[in-house]
Amino acid sequence: MLNRDKFYIGGQWVAPSAKETIDVHCAGTGEVMGEVPAGTEKDIEAAVAAARAAFEGWSRTPVEKRAEYLQKISDGLKARADELAQTIAQEVGMPIKLAGRIQAGLPIANFANYAKLAPAFQFETRVGNSVVVREPVGVVGAITPWNYPLHQIALKVAPALAAGCTVVLKPSEIAPFNAFLLAEVIEAAGLPKGVFNLVTGYGLAVGEALVKHPQVDMISFTGSTRAGKRISEVGAQTVKRIALELGGKSPSVILEDADLAAAVKGTVNGCFLNSGQTCTALTRMLVPQSKYEEAAKLAVEAAKGFTLGDPMQESTRLGPLSSQMQLERVRSYIKKGVEEGAEMLTGGAEKPEGLPGGYFVKPTIFGKVKNSMTIAQEEIFGPVLCIIAYQDEDEAVRIANDSPYGLAGAVWSKDDAHAQEVARHIRAGQIDVNGGAFNMNAPFGGFKQSGHGREAGVYGLEEFLELKSLQLKGLG
Ligand code: NAD
Repeated sequence: MLNRDKFYIGGQWVAPSAKETIDVHCAGTGEVMGEVPAGTEKDIEAAVAAARAAFEGWSRTPVEKRAEYLQKISDGLKARADELAQTIAQEVGMPIKLAGRIQAGLPIANFANYAKLAPAFQFETRVGNSVVVREPVGVVGAITPWNYPLHQIALKVAPALAAGCTVVLKPSEIAPFNAFLLAEVIEAAGLPKGVFNLVTGYGLAVGEALVKHPQVDMISFTGSTRAGKRISEVGAQTVKRIALELGGKSPSVILEDADLAAAVKGTVNGCFLNSGQTCTALTRMLVPQSKYEEAAKLAVEAAKGFTLGDPMQESTRLGPLSSQMQLERVRSYIKKGVEEGAEMLTGGAEKPEGLPGGYFVKPTIFGKVKNSMTIAQEEIFGPVLCIIAYQDEDEAVRIANDSPYGLAGAVWSKDDAHAQEVARHIRAGQIDVNGGAFNMNAPFGGFKQSGHGREAGVYGLEEFLELKSLQLKGLG
C-alpha cells in the first residue's frame, strides 16, 4: 500500500486539517493501492500563505540559481525513474515500458529543459525609450489531471519555478502518488521552504478553494472542458490570470495521395496511446471516400496489434482505463455509437475475456461515422476510433474544423508542402504533418474549447511572466 498522510507545505510534511482520505485504485486490478488525504480549504489556506511568504525571496533569486534547483529536481526524478514509472503504470494503467519512456521520461526531460532555457531567456528587452521587464506573475495554483500526471505537473511547476513564481500544486485525486514523489525530490533538492507546496483532495473542495483564493495570482489548469469553464467563472471573481489546457477531438486528415498504410497506422497509434486517454488523441480519422474500404481494413489490422493486458507486463501494448468511472463512460459512448448507426468494425462495449479485474475495454473502431454523431463530437477518452469518409479536400477541412475543440490534428500526404497547406487550415494548436515527431520545445495548447494559453518550451515560460514597462528619460 502506498499510503500518504501528510501534505508538503512550507518545506515541511504537515498533517491535514481533516481526517478524510481518498482511496486510489490500481487501474490494472481495480483494487485499492493506497490512500491520500482529502484536503480542505484550511489546507489550501496554509499552502497559499507559505507560497506567498516565499515569493519575494524566490522571485529575487538569480535565474541561474533557480535553474540549478531545476536541474537538481530533474536529477532527483531520474534517480527514481523506475519507481515513478511503476507508480504511474499502476495509477493510470499505461503499460510499464511506455510509462518509463513517457510518464517518467518526459518530466525528467522537462525539468532539465527549463534548467537550460531559463538562464538563456531574455527577461529584459528594449522598445524605444522603455525597458520591458518580464516579472514572475506571483503565486501559481497548478491543478492537474491523471492521464499523464507527472508530465502535466512538470509542464506547470518547472516553468513557473523558472520564472520565479511559487507554486501550490493540487494534483488529480485519481493519480496522486507521483506528485508525492516529486515533493520528496524537491525537498531533497533543498528548494527554499514554501516555494513548492502540495495539497491533495477533490476538485470541488480544494481545487475551487485554490481558484477562489485572492492571494493566488494565477491558475494553470489542465483537465476537462467542463472543469475549465467552472474555473474560469470562479477565477473571474478575483480577476486572476487563468491558463486552460482542456480536451480535444482531434482529426487525422488522410489525403488522397498519402501513403495509406503509414497514415492509418500512425493514426491508430495516435488514437490508442495510453488507451485513448490522451488529450491530443487522433480520434477522428478522415479518409477519401474512394479509400474508405481499404483504410477501414488497415485500421482493423492495426488494432489487432494492441494486445490488452496487465500494464505491469513488458509485453502489454494496451493497458486498462484509469478508473471505474472512465470504464463506464467509455462503454456508454461505444453503445451510443451503435445506437446512432455507426458500423462497429472491431471491439465493443462488453468486457474483454480473460481479464477479470481492472478497467479494461476493447480497442474499438467505428466505420461509416457521420461527424454529427455523438462519438465524433464528444471526447470519449478511451481507445475508440471513428472513421469518417469525405468527398473532397474542402469537405475534409470542414469536417476537421466542425468540432467545439481545437487541440491537435494530423495531415498525411506524399506532397509535404501540400500537407502543410492543409494543416494551416485546421483550427487547432498542434498538427503533426506526415507523422512529424513530438517536440518538447514547440508550443502546446488549444484553440476554441480546448483552452487558451500555451505550455512547453519558452512559450510555457512566458505564461508565468507579467510584462512591465519602465519609461526612461534619455533613451529612445
Ligand atoms: P477533470 O477536469 O475532471 O480534473 C482535472 C483536475 O481538476 C483534477 O485535479 C480535479 O480534481 C480538478 N477539478 C475538477 N473540478 C474542479 C473545479 N470545479 N475546480 C477546481 N478544480 C477542479 O479532468 P480529468 O478527468 O482529471 O482529466 C481528463 C481531461 O483532461 C480530459 O478532458 C483531457 O482531454 C484533459 N487533458 C487536457 C490536456 C491538455 O493539455 N489540453 C492534457 C491532458 C488532459
